[in-house]
Amino acid sequence: MSSNRIILEEVLDREVCLTIDHVCRGSKGMGSLPGLASFLHEHGLATIELDKDIIEGYIVDGSNLPGFAHGLARPRTIAECAAVFRACFMAGIPFTLSAGRSNLTGSATPQGGVIVSLDHFNHAPVRTDIEARRVWCPAGIILEDMRNLVKEQNNGRLIFPVDPTSRSDAMVGGAVSCNASGFTPGETGAMRHWVSGIEVLMPDGHLIRAERGQYWSKNGVFVLVRDARESLLPVPRYARPLIKNASGPFSSPDGIMDFVDLIIGSEGIFGMVTGCTLALKEHPGEYLDLFFPLPDEGDAIDFLAYLRNRLESDFSVLTACEYFGSNCRKYMNHEQKFFSTESRVGIYLQIPIREGSLDEAAGTWLEIISGSPCKVDANRIRVMANDRDRTLFMDARHSLPANAIEIVRQRGTYTILTDTSVPHERFREFLDYTNTLIRSNGVDYLSFGHLGDCHLHFTLLPQRDQLEKAAHLYDLIVDKASELGGVYSGEHGTGKRKQGDFLKRYGTGAVEEVQAAKAGVDPLFLLNRGNVVESPA
Ligand SMILES: Cc1cc2nc3c(=O)[nH]c(=O)nc-3n(C[C@H](O)[C@H](O)[C@H](O)COP(=O)(O)OP(=O)(O)OC[C@H]3O[C@@H](n4cnc5c(N)ncnc54)[C@H](O)[C@@H]3O)c2cc1C
Repeated sequence: MSSNRIILEEVLDREVCLTIDHVCRGSKGMGSLPGLASFLHEHGLATIELDKDIIEGYIVDGSNLPGFAHGLARPRTIAECAAVFRACFMAGIPFTLSAGRSNLTGSATPQGGVIVSLDHFNHAPVRTDIEARRVWCPAGIILEDMRNLVKEQNNGRLIFPVDPTSRSDAMVGGAVSCNASGFTPGETGAMRHWVSGIEVLMPDGHLIRAERGQYWSKNGVFVLVRDARESLLPVPRYARPLIKNASGPFSSPDGIMDFVDLIIGSEGIFGMVTGCTLALKEHPGEYLDLFFPLPDEGDAIDFLAYLRNRLESDFSVLTACEYFGSNCRKYMNHEQKFFSTESRVGIYLQIPIREGSLDEAAGTWLEIISGSPCKVDANRIRVMANDRDRTLFMDARHSLPANAIEIVRQRGTYTILTDTSVPHERFREFLDYTNTLIRSNGVDYLSFGHLGDCHLHFTLLPQRDQLEKAAHLYDLIVDKASELGGVYSGEHGTGKRKQGDFLKRYGTGAVEEVQAAKAGVDPLFLLNRGNVVESPA
């Protein structure tokens, strides 16, 4: 039976915990860090590096925002982690979780204090349970390594299907805490759908183990129970649109939510995921990969509407529905292999073959695609029938961001990337607005992304004198997405960079709700300070 009373486990021996508390009571704040580091080291509890040269390698993440820190811990076990958490918590020292550092929002960029890196946090092996179709894994394993291990451990019968582009850099814990998603459209494309259990180290060093369905908030609160003491964790209630959405922590307007959902996508503000249980999926055996060009963006949107109708809105039969939009041809390697002279945009579909042969599936899908009322040239539908074709295609796909980055590097600027998703009814309006806006301002750009989720990335490539204008265009695009019922982030999250977007999208009430939830576990806002919301003044 579910309950809103969560029993927190002690990780550290009671004596050890009291000793840490005692040391921290005597000396607080950043000035106490060297003494604390010595204490933890001498007692074999944990190591916090204070060497600037070592720390330097961890202060910047994929966002390139500037960061700084005073110490670095790379714990190997939950106990080491708990010792660092407890010490920072009691001494009032901020601490920031850092996994693969592939986020684009500055969520793992420290703003002082101690970095807790998961680089060595592979404290237990990945264990696949074939019967139950699930896997348990430590948070510090690279997502792609875990996916490969799963395949190895069950001879390829089961797979973990979430495949963000950054899966060879991102760790499982990072992917859970950002609710990362891959090519599959719809709910099954993101981590949340697959997480069935979670272990979370709370900022004060206590541990929560929660299965999905075990802990549900009641009247908008969880009750956290440590020893005989109780504290309240109020859940955010702001209304998040039910589209692909990585903007802000999970919320529930009626105040009822699963604790597991509160943690997924919360960008580490409530605690550190130390391990999780993930559901697995049957390997389909084979995939049909198709690419076809279209004359214009309008045709692509028409095709999406046709497909939605044909599939009765159930995109789960696809494992990819990707779009190559405005100016992609200009920045894509091997583009002549995929586009015809008169086509400007293209669509890639991947279909898992669960029944019948690849040829049969190809026949069915060629018929579906050519049957659309859009301007599809049946002779240009490309079936990628072998690994060489698929590799060529993936290389073309990956060349887009790489070539874009090279261009801005030559211009001495940087890319400005949108991550908006909008309701499908407003997608056409959103794209018309955005393309017209960027073009009329003369800023170079390309757009590509997850067509099935109406979630595209517009990548602005400004010249030196256009940086300010491009930043302004980003704001206007995000505002338009909000106005149409969409969100500023479909997958990258909020971090520090998009704090203003969260405030604009959901208002001060939502900020206060997230702050109240955070204060319920971390009153001084020490863990992952500055992510999603500021600490209250
Ligand atoms: C080239 C590129 C492609 C990308 N493609 C995609 C994509 O296809 N889909 C997508 O969703 N994202 C994508 N991203 C964004 C990013 O890779 C994901 O958000 C990823 O999940 C971050 O994982 P990480 O291990 O790198 O976490 P980090 O960047 O280290 O951290 C991200 C956040 O999670 C917190 N965190 C890390 N570990 C834990 C933990 N164990 N417990 C609690 N909090 C933790 C950090 O404090 C931080 O707030 C891409 C990024 C790049 C650079």
